[in-house]
Amino acid sequence: MANLKLKQINKIYDNGFHAVKDFNLKIEEGEFIVLVGPSGCGKTTVLRMIAGLETITDGELYINDSFMNHMAAKDRDIAMVFQSYALFPHLTVYENISFPLKINKLSREEIHNKVKEVSEILEIESLLNKKPSTLSGGQKQRVALGRAIVRKPKIFLMDEPLSNLDSNLRTQMRIEISKLHSKLDATFIYVTHDQIEAMTMGTRIVIMEDGKIQQIGTPQEVYENP
Ligand code: ADP
Ligand code: ADP
Repeated sequence: MANLKLKQINKIYDNGFHAVKDFNLKIEEGEFIVLVGPSGCGKTTVLRMIAGLETITDGELYINDSFMNHMAAKDRDIAMVFQSYALFPHLTVYENISFPLKINKLSREEIHNKVKEVSEILEIESLLNKKPSTLSGGQKQRVALGRAIVRKPKIFLMDEPLSNLDSNLRTQMRIEISKLHSKLDATFIYVTHDQIEAMTMGTRIVIMEDGKIQQIGTPQEVYENP
């Protein structure tokens, strides 16, 4: 698990656009933070700066009290799941999930055990030999989650992971992701524009507008006293 501190973070893109403005947030170990707000308000930019995929123009990012601004993405112990599943089409489900482990040079047996554990948690054991093109949207998203959790990252970033799914499947996956959060000992930061997702999954909700934090609170605080 990890705690994070975002101190006075700003992002100005190369074209001069000021996408994130004086963003201050402390995230405790094991929280499930949901970032909500209209399209274009800067949610993805915040996630990408935490992941190290986007530079921080100004301000400071700390993870477990270490200054992270200049740490390479691959050294951050963070996994990210996207709206588009970003699975490798030519690899089987087994190979997709084991991919991050192969990069870390684990033994075949260790890889096998970890893929088995993850596929049991996500109930995708029967899909291991299939190619992504033969899977449903919900199955693909489970595989993408599997590939993200198999390394046991201490921080889990998710960018609208359910927005390509139909509403029944969304409900089901919401429950799955909440379960994962309680099983995994990880800190989750989840971007959505869906209020139901925010209310049912978040320990705290951060509402953004025009690059700035507008409100922070528990689901009750945010939606009962707007
Ligand atoms: P959200 O995730 O809330 O929809 P984003 O963080 O993706 O918002 O984008 C915030 C703003 O920054 C948007 O206006 C977007 O057009 C702009 N933006 C995103 N990426 C870039 C970029 N590489 N260069 C310039 N502007 C960008
Ligand atoms: P290699 O490095 O030779 O590709 P891997 O450790 O990735 O070896 O596994 C060998 C093959 O066995 C892979 O192609 C993988 O798809 C398959 N495999 C291993 N375990 C399972 C499993 N539990 N279910 C499905 N396929 C598996």
